[in-house]
Amino acid sequence: MLEINYVPALTDNYIWIVARPGSRLVAVVDPGEAEPVKQWLSAHDLSVGAYLITHHHGDHVGGLDGLLAEHPAPVYGPATEADTIGQVDHRLAGGDMFSLEFLDAAFSVIDVPGHTLGHIALVTGDILLAGDALFRGGCGRVFEGTHAQMQASLARLRALPETTRVYGGHEYTQKNLAFAQTVEPDNAAIREAIDTVDALRREGKPSLPSTLGEEIRTNPFLRWDVEPVRRVASQRAGRELINPGEIFAVLRDWKDAS
Ligand SMILES: [Zn+2]
Repeated sequence: MLEINYVPALTDNYIWIVARPGSRLVAVVDPGEAEPVKQWLSAHDLSVGAYLITHHHGDHVGGLDGLLAEHPAPVYGPATEADTIGQVDHRLAGGDMFSLEFLDAAFSVIDVPGHTLGHIALVTGDILLAGDALFRGGCGRVFEGTHAQMQASLARLRALPETTRVYGGHEYTQKNLAFAQTVEPDNAAIREAIDTVDALRREGKPSLPSTLGEEIRTNPFLRWDVEPVRRVASQRAGRELINPGEIFAVLRDWKDAS
């Protein structure tokens, strides 16, 4: 059974640590900073068996050099961003599978372009390491791809089992759910999620992970084909929208402007 720990980093990043009880080695996901991870490793008397990278942004890879100097290990990352990142020695693309023996776990790779063009998500068992593609209640901004690409990426993630636990890269949940409520004021599942998340944050706990089932019921960026969402997006666009990419684009632009 895998265990997911977290190290808060920078302003609102989470560096996820995938561990297996009994193993001295862990996998470190998207280390935006080295120092807090080094401290966590030394406090738990653990070292690194692999680094897993979802995309090239500095807040996800900035700690690699500092960590590799003390904890050398293979770096798995997106093939098409490997040259930008520099330290990637295992180039991954959608459909690839790989195993990490120290975790006794197999991972599959899903291409999720949009936030960046080479962005990948990793799945092992019921764990989804989503990087900046999917957050609790929201999704990453579309920086490099098109809105249609990002919507297609989210459709691939939405097809995973509802029990999938979603580990995104940032603690943006309260703002995300406030926006979700603006889009769908009558959605009771959103109100419920807001209460749950507010309680977690009051205790200083991360709001992550959520489940894909909750995301499907609350996250506007996974709800392009739900009638109230389609209708409000159409109202905003001033014309009837049916294309999922177009509905997604209206929602994403709305969130960016809010
Ligand atoms: Zn990013």
